[in-house]
Amino acid sequence: MFGLVAVLVGVVLVVLTGIDVLDAAIAALVALHVLRSGWGVIRDSTSGLLDESVPAEELTRIREVISLNTGDAIETHDLRTRHAGRTTFIEFHLVVPGSMSVERSHEICDRLEAALQKALEGAVVMIHLEPDNEARQAQVVAR
Ligand SMILES: [Zn+2]
Repeated sequence: MFGLVAVLVGVVLVVLTGIDVLDAAIAALVALHVLRSGWGVIRDSTSGLLDESVPAEELTRIREVISLNTGDAIETHDLRTRHAGRTTFIEFHLVVPGSMSVERSHEICDRLEAALQKALEGAVVMIHLEPDNEARQAQVVAR
């Protein structure tokens, strides 16, 4: 629509003023506008297909929710997050005492998953469970 109006304005201006270069200038503007709209369409349709990093405030929220729900686990580390389309993928390691039962560890995992899914709709949570004597910490999220 912008293109059509601009072309008509261009033709009218050239006829009224007799300045041919106006037509070329307006044609160039129309071309730029078309390129820009095209880029917008491409960007909107591909951003959902490619993995994107999670925005800073969302990452802060994820760290908060994890910290509040670790229970008697020792720490969490190696947090990795990404967006793919509308889904937020959250992965981290959870360190628990080696003597903690599978049942109790699993309860903590369930609680963390539920809390994260409540805070971030559609979150997919992967928790890697480690006994404290095996833990290899890279970046500690919560202790
Ligand atoms: Zn680990």
